[in-house]
Amino acid sequence: MKKSTILYTVIPCYNESECLSKTTELLSQKIHDLISKKQISEKSRIVYIDDGSKDNTWSIIQKLGKNHPQIIGIKLSRNFGHQNALLAGLMYAKDHCDAAISMDADLQDDINAIDKFIEKFNNSAEIVYGVRSERKKDSSFKKHSALLFYKIMNKLGANTVYNHADYRLMSKRALEELSKFQEVNLFLRGIVPTIGLKTATVKYSRAERFAGESKYPLKKMINFAVDGITSFSIKPIRLIFLLGIIVSFISFIILCYAVIVKLIGQAVSGWTFTICSIWLLGGVQMIALGIIGEYIGKIYSEVKHRPRYTIEEISSSQ
Ligand code: UDP
Ligand code: MG
Repeated sequence: MKKSTILYTVIPCYNESECLSKTTELLSQKIHDLISKKQISEKSRIVYIDDGSKDNTWSIIQKLGKNHPQIIGIKLSRNFGHQNALLAGLMYAKDHCDAAISMDADLQDDINAIDKFIEKFNNSAEIVYGVRSERKKDSSFKKHSALLFYKIMNKLGANTVYNHADYRLMSKRALEELSKFQEVNLFLRGIVPTIGLKTATVKYSRAERFAGESKYPLKKMINFAVDGITSFSIKPIRLIFLLGIIVSFISFIILCYAVIVKLIGQAVSGWTFTICSIWLLGGVQMIALGIIGEYIGKIYSEVKHRPRYTIEEISSSQ
């Protein structure tokens, strides 16, 4: 048993002022329990990353820090998005902890699963995935769109862990490996499985958001899905190529047909057919260009290699 595991819980927060007090209360209770059971070290911490919130999230984090010395606050200079905020926290934790658990600020991830995460870590797992056993509390739209997303992702060749979001434990070693991934288009749940190492899963049931609204409206969800697919798979471009071949083949048949009709001397006016072909092919070409553009956009941002986050301030009572 690794008795002195220093556990860091990493929580990105964007406009989470309504959730933070409750989350801190439950989580610090949990951390204290684990410390008193000697499962984790007294040096364990809770890291809140304020991802450029527009409400008073940062002042709440600072205030909570005064009453709970185990809280560390990291303020990003602006909103960098969930994945980047999470990375900022994990990269901070990497230098201080033996293992880090990432979770949402809204108490959707069951805090009681932390015991099982540590158990698996003690059984030498380097990465432990939290997998949702049920999604009763999610809206039917969210549930179905998320499941469809996992299916499409895996079909397209990007291996993600089914029904796993970003509730996971990573050992210091796994975090060090993660730090070697320099990509700017971050999709952590696709990147982490490519690290390899010994993994385990923990099942938990996903609760309702404790307070406030989801910070992932439909537009962000679609962006996230497109990002996930185009960051991990070139299959869409291959499909375009295949589509091109099929369309060319059909065009060839039509061409033969047109020549034969012409030779027989029965040339039809064919207006409807011409118009349909133009619109159909125009649409297909635009979709194809869009998909290629998506990849070029990715290359563009990777080439610039801008910083993935900027830390403005770190507050810690230590
Ligand atoms: N989040 C963030 N930056 C953003 C959007 C979200 O740090 O730009 C955080 C948010 O505060 C929460 C986590 O990411 O802790 C997941 O967001 P949310 O719970 O709203 O997503 P959902 O569970 O609805 O998919
Ligand atoms: Mg949530």
